[in-house]
Amino acid sequence: LFVDAPLQVGARIALDRGQANYLVNVLRLKDGDSVLIFNGRDGEWRAEVSVEGRKAADLVCVERTREQSPAPDIVYAFAPLKHARLDYMVQKAVEMGAGVLQPILTQRTQSSRVNLDRMRSNAIEAAEQCGILAIPEVREEENLERFLKGLEKERLVIFCDENAPVSNPVEALAKLGNIQDGLVVIVGPEGGFTDQERALVAARERCVCVSLGPRILRADTAAVAALAIVQSVLGD
Ligand code: SAM
Repeated sequence: LFVDAPLQVGARIALDRGQANYLVNVLRLKDGDSVLIFNGRDGEWRAEVSVEGRKAADLVCVERTREQSPAPDIVYAFAPLKHARLDYMVQKAVEMGAGVLQPILTQRTQSSRVNLDRMRSNAIEAAEQCGILAIPEVREEENLERFLKGLEKERLVIFCDENAPVSNPVEALAKLGNIQDGLVVIVGPEGGFTDQERALVAARERCVCVSLGPRILRADTAAVAALAIVQSVLGD
């Protein structure tokens, strides 16, 4: 469970109504039952529930169960989609190991106003779901060209392009050798990238254009496919 409070032995955390309802009425936890909590900074803690009626509950921090671990150095850069598809994409990208979520504005991006708070709460929910202690960073939207310019030179860009020649992406990445960390995975908008954008990305020194197979995937599916391939090469 994510809590927005400092964690240390004996710390008492007042839960909001939604969290209290979840613990007391959905999970049916009783006074003294344990729950694992994290805040994105202080590791994972076992806390005991202190129930106050049917609608309120506190937690008391008892012991640290895991040290804080850093977020994976994988930037997932994507053209924002609308509503439910964006929610899905953010949740799946976090589950698949993205440490930074970077919305990029491309020539064919349809949804240029991104609800960053909604992205953050989806990222937290996904981290809770899969036991990730570092909450992925959600960055403000950025124009593709400026985003590329701002990247460290040595950072490898994995550019997912349905027009790339179909070849085995796992082999293509494995051939590069040193891809332990410092990656960017880029997935484009519903309408794909323009030729101008393809040329812009391909002009980078450390860039590999990757095909995810002969079918054109929905952008949210491409997120999962691309990050699964990256993880299979990283071995995580
Ligand atoms: N119109 C669909 C949609 O609404 O999502 C498909 C969009 S597809 C053009 C979106 C992005 O997914 C592309 O820009 C590319 O980054 C990625 N993608 C989809 N299929 C791919 C493939 N076979 N190989 C590589 N990337 C792919």
